[in-house]
Amino acid sequence: MNTKHWVVDNYQDIRQHYPQIKEAAAFLQQGEVVAFPTETVYGLGGQVKLNSAVEKIFQAKGRPSDNPLIVHIADQADVEKLACSIPHYAYKLMEAFWPGPLTVILPRKKGEVSELVTAGLDTVAIRMPDHPAALALIKEAGVPVAAPSANRSGKPSPTTARHVLDDLNGRIAGVIDGGETGVGIESTVVDCTGPFPIVLRPGGVTEKEIEQLTGKAATNAVLKNKEEAPKAPGMKYAHYAPEAPLYLIEGTQETIQKTVDKWRADGKKVGVLTTEENQKRYLADTVIACGRRDDLTTVAKNLYSALRLFNEQPVDVIFAEPFPKEGVGEAIMNRLEKAAGHKWIVG
Ligand code: AMP
Ligand code: MG
Repeated sequence: MNTKHWVVDNYQDIRQHYPQIKEAAAFLQQGEVVAFPTETVYGLGGQVKLNSAVEKIFQAKGRPSDNPLIVHIADQADVEKLACSIPHYAYKLMEAFWPGPLTVILPRKKGEVSELVTAGLDTVAIRMPDHPAALALIKEAGVPVAAPSANRSGKPSPTTARHVLDDLNGRIAGVIDGGETGVGIESTVVDCTGPFPIVLRPGGVTEKEIEQLTGKAATNAVLKNKEEAPKAPGMKYAHYAPEAPLYLIEGTQETIQKTVDKWRADGKKVGVLTTEENQKRYLADTVIACGRRDDLTTVAKNLYSALRLFNEQPVDVIFAEPFPKEGVGEAIMNRLEKAAGHKWIVG
């Protein structure tokens, strides 16, 4: 399959790009799948009701079929077409954070979404992305669009159209290229089926912001030991991983450097994932900085492209400095822990 590449400029009125959006939307209407930019990461979209389109998403990504997809909408009124029993606090969340990096899980209405999208669950995940090209595409297609991140399953999510093409060229009908995404990590997934919101996956919107708005919130981690703890499906799979094994490394720069030296003395090529502040302080085979430690939003924005950059370097092992689990640091550490397969070493 020849994958089309439609370039759009986010800073121009999206109506200037109507021919490109229209062509991409026509592919969606024909049941094909196309990738598009959002404010979090690039998504790979297909019509929500059409089994064959949803199958194409899973096939292109190599995604396990028990990992459900998020439904993307361009109009908040569509939530009531897809979901029922919507609690008051869920409306508050949608009004405060949509369009934006927040996904709500709600009881689903039967027959509105392919069973493949919800992976057999009786709930549906919905979000409205904050990106002119994404919103224009969904509106033009005239249907909600199921869209996971547009990467091969297990790899870091794409934050540029180049990342999408590296993984999916020839496997999808096309990609709308809106340059680099903004937030850089995926949406916050919030379970809205109970008496208060529960954060299943940390993301661009923080638990604190949700708590401030709704009065009460919890994380899945807090509820982990209780029998009734809800689970975000897909948590059991490998995620975000670069090709070389990645370890989170605890220690000071001096002790981390000693560990690097030891591995290099054993003939290993060592990569270090750090931030701009510390980049020059390490001596290793490859040192990559993702953003600045004094502004974690820059780390979120650059994390996945940094992980992908290691694949272009001859490294046998990667050591990553951890971040404080505060604000967006919670989401960054959630992704880094998964990329590391929860492996920590002490430097
Ligand atoms: P992504 O892999 O970025 O497409 O994220 C999709 C994630 O959303 C899944 O891995 C789940 O964790 C979550 N999700 C989607 N639908 C549901 C649902 N109905 N219930 C709970 N979590 C969901
Ligand atoms: Mg993903």
